[in-house]
Amino acid sequence: MSSVDFASLGISAPVLKAVKQLGYEQPSPVQAASIPILLEGKNLLGTAQTGTGKTAAFALPFLSKLDEKQTTPQVLVLTPTRELAIQVAEAFQSYAKHIKGFHVLPIYGGADIGGQLRGLKRGAQVVVGTPGRMLDHLRRRSLDLSQIKGLILDEADEMLRMGFIDDVETILAKTPPECQRTLFSATMPPAIKRVADKYLGDAEVVSIENKTKTVERIAQTHLMVKGHQKMDALTRILEVEQFEGMIIFVRTKSSTLEIAEKLEARGFSSAALNGDLTQAVRERAINRLKKGQLDIVVATDVAARGLDVERISHVINYDVPHDNESYVHRIGRTGRAGREGKAIMLVTQKETRMLRSIEKSTRQPISAFNLPSNEEVSGQRVEQFKQQLVGMSQSTKLDKFHSLVKEVAAEHDIDMSLLAAALAFEVQKERPLFPKLVAIDTPRASQNDRASDRKSRPRNERTDKSDRVERQRPDRAQKVSQNKKPITDHEGNDVAMITYRIEVGRNDDVSPKNIVGAIANEAQIDSQFIGHITLHDDHSTVDLPEGMPKELFDHLCKVRVCQKPLKLSIHHGTAGQHRDAKPAAKNKKNKPASKGKSKTHRGADSRPKKPRKPPSADRK
Ligand code: AMP
Repeated sequence: MSSVDFASLGISAPVLKAVKQLGYEQPSPVQAASIPILLEGKNLLGTAQTGTGKTAAFALPFLSKLDEKQTTPQVLVLTPTRELAIQVAEAFQSYAKHIKGFHVLPIYGGADIGGQLRGLKRGAQVVVGTPGRMLDHLRRRSLDLSQIKGLILDEADEMLRMGFIDDVETILAKTPPECQRTLFSATMPPAIKRVADKYLGDAEVVSIENKTKTVERIAQTHLMVKGHQKMDALTRILEVEQFEGMIIFVRTKSSTLEIAEKLEARGFSSAALNGDLTQAVRERAINRLKKGQLDIVVATDVAARGLDVERISHVINYDVPHDNESYVHRIGRTGRAGREGKAIMLVTQKETRMLRSIEKSTRQPISAFNLPSNEEVSGQRVEQFKQQLVGMSQSTKLDKFHSLVKEVAAEHDIDMSLLAAALAFEVQKERPLFPKLVAIDTPRASQNDRASDRKSRPRNERTDKSDRVERQRPDRAQKVSQNKKPITDHEGNDVAMITYRIEVGRNDDVSPKNIVGAIANEAQIDSQFIGHITLHDDHSTVDLPEGMPKELFDHLCKVRVCQKPLKLSIHHGTAGQHRDAKPAAKNKKNKPASKGKSKTHRGADSRPKKPRKPPSADRK
């Protein structure tokens, strides 16, 4: 983390108040570097990924400069997906909590346009949306860009990967030339650099330096987990890991209190450590930790700075750190005085890049943590119970109870061990010895990032090229492989695919990236699950995972690419490349395709499921 504080960055009073209430202790490095530049009105080109705090890096300064009287949109944010649009809009809303009359409007495809039209008519100072739907509104003249003062391209490389870069450029060209422009991207492929050069001029560059550090003696692992299951995963880890002292790192001051409270409720005594607590309270907690009167503290980076307690055997990164430096600092709280330490980091799918970035900077792989199974938790509890029982049986205060149990056994002719079992059953009710724990979904870290590391160009740039090569033979069908290898799900199983025909082809000037972008965004199918695409003159074919629900199929039929509805139908030519493969594909939300009860559409040997609603942002 940086050494500056939010107040000295120059953000407006109402925004500062909201940030404080959210429990942000200090600006993350990308915020400390970007906010002053944006407040000064300069263009900015930033390399930052999810998890670094980039949303606040652009939201806070633009909100600080908001003209409350202007009702036409002042700030426009372009995002690659509807989830990110929702997430960014929610972030703006929370930072603008104390700005009167503030309105932010997310606009994205697949949602009722009527509501968006009404929202735009009512007036919104900030509009966040996906490029396709924004263009739609521009065509309808429902979105007025003439007064835009700030424009942000978020996750620009993702927009390129999904084939939206032309749409992005069209929108960029419609914004006033004097508007302040910001581009954030996790990587800087040449196509993004070109857009930046053309539209951002001599922008200030912010790139968070990733210094290389090696961390020895600390066994580092990560656990992929969904945001809403982090607490269950943490509890499971605490049950089975043999630890002496532990620090759990979270991002905000409020989280330290919340997590500590939840742990208490689950039977783990713990204390919160954050910058709001008085020095005396903090010292008391640290002393108790040192003496072994307390085993778990839940801390922010700031509060745990320089903490040196030998008996800390474990560091849990409940929230991923904002940068590699913080990671190294956090895990350095264990492995003190030549001891060995363990560090476990909980990572959501969206934060995979952060994981890879840390691995690169520490030059150490962070292997997957094996989440303890139900049986392991049970085994651990049984073991502890046995020890407890043996300990209690040595107590000197048992005489009367011993007689009592013997009496019951004699009176009712019941075996003593059966009576012991009945008592054991009663005792374990609050913390069952043979529990049925909630299932925790642990998706694998997305392999996309590793792949993109290997092949430095994003997938759509590669498809672009094959498209160009194929265009030299205009009379032939163009077979463009979105994924050359068999497509596999998160467990590495082959995904069964079906070939669909779509009614848009070369004559419409369609390119594979247009098709991938539309399907990925509208159907919420991760682009890695979109298979071969073959372009013909008047139609094309595309391989998609088996098991498409009827509602989704109907929706995709109406989705327009190059102004034409896709009108999906099962292709009766060559079958999909992995037709026999099992099991059915998983969607972006990682649910088996067999779930749900909707009807199978005609001809598809699929087990359909309901279309996904935009998820509430569980990444936060
Ligand atoms: P982002 O990289 O924008 O997706 O942000 C990642 C997460 O960090 C979000 O949950 C933010 O609410 C949180 N966050 C952003 N800035 C800070 C900060 N300065 N201190 C603590 N948490 C933050």
